[in-house]
Amino acid sequence: MDKNVLIATALHEHARIYLLNSRQVVEEARKYHDLWPTSCAALGRTLSVTALMGLMQKDENETVTVTINGNGPIGTILCVAQNNGEVKGFCGDKHIYQKYADTHKLAVGPAVGKEGYLKVSKNLKMKQSYTSQVALKSGEIGDDFAYYFAESEQVPTIVSVGVLVDTDDSVKSAGALIIELLPNHVESDVTYLENLDLRPISSVFAEDPDLKRYLYSLFPDALVLEEREVFYHCGCSKERFLRNLLTLPKKDLEEISADEKIEIKCEFCEKIYRFDEKDIKAVLKYASDKR
Ligand SMILES: [Zn+2]
Repeated sequence: MDKNVLIATALHEHARIYLLNSRQVVEEARKYHDLWPTSCAALGRTLSVTALMGLMQKDENETVTVTINGNGPIGTILCVAQNNGEVKGFCGDKHIYQKYADTHKLAVGPAVGKEGYLKVSKNLKMKQSYTSQVALKSGEIGDDFAYYFAESEQVPTIVSVGVLVDTDDSVKSAGALIIELLPNHVESDVTYLENLDLRPISSVFAEDPDLKRYLYSLFPDALVLEEREVFYHCGCSKERFLRNLLTLPKKDLEEISADEKIEIKCEFCEKIYRFDEKDIKAVLKYASDKR
């Protein structure tokens, strides 16, 4: 398996660094959802940071869910990551392609909008253990996450995230860098970070995708603590959707059963599951046996 994440410490152990080359993860998302470039960049940025937040959790069963809605045309972006490296997500409008007139860069901010929120929920074994929300700053995603870390988790953090889409709409490069200042940091660490020359990470990886070379170019004293892998994984199944049906009130189930056939599309991988009368009767029977 390809290790696409470095977790490191630097600045005399005053900083923690998470660095991800997310090209494959974002390309998988693009293929599942048929994402157009601006939708791809917005969802890809959110997936990349969420994936790293998944790795930050201490418990391996902890799940991080990030929801962004800025009242822009893309609608809601929702991403879920786990400590084992799994990440998945979707966005409302998958077919947005708009650029800034001056720079010709993908116009993520206007697509996401900034009249809204970024919400983070952490769940441990189906139980919500934490939820926190901040107002969006720009809708460009990176700034919004940096603001979230500073406000909600009280950790001064730099977030650099980007997706470069190729002329054939495939993902040319993508990555995320999160630099956290630890509580023992001193003023000179802040100055060091202020003077860091952070080029767009997708341009850096388009030229040279090597994680360690980029890490050491920013922090010559960096020490790699862990190499990890994050990957797009949905994990849905017919059984899982049937189990979800069981959580519906019996009245709803009977109504569904009257329709005889239902289709449920998985939002994370777009797979369509079909349930016939037999499936629904089995669910109804199971539900009434249990109640
Ligand atoms: Zn799925």
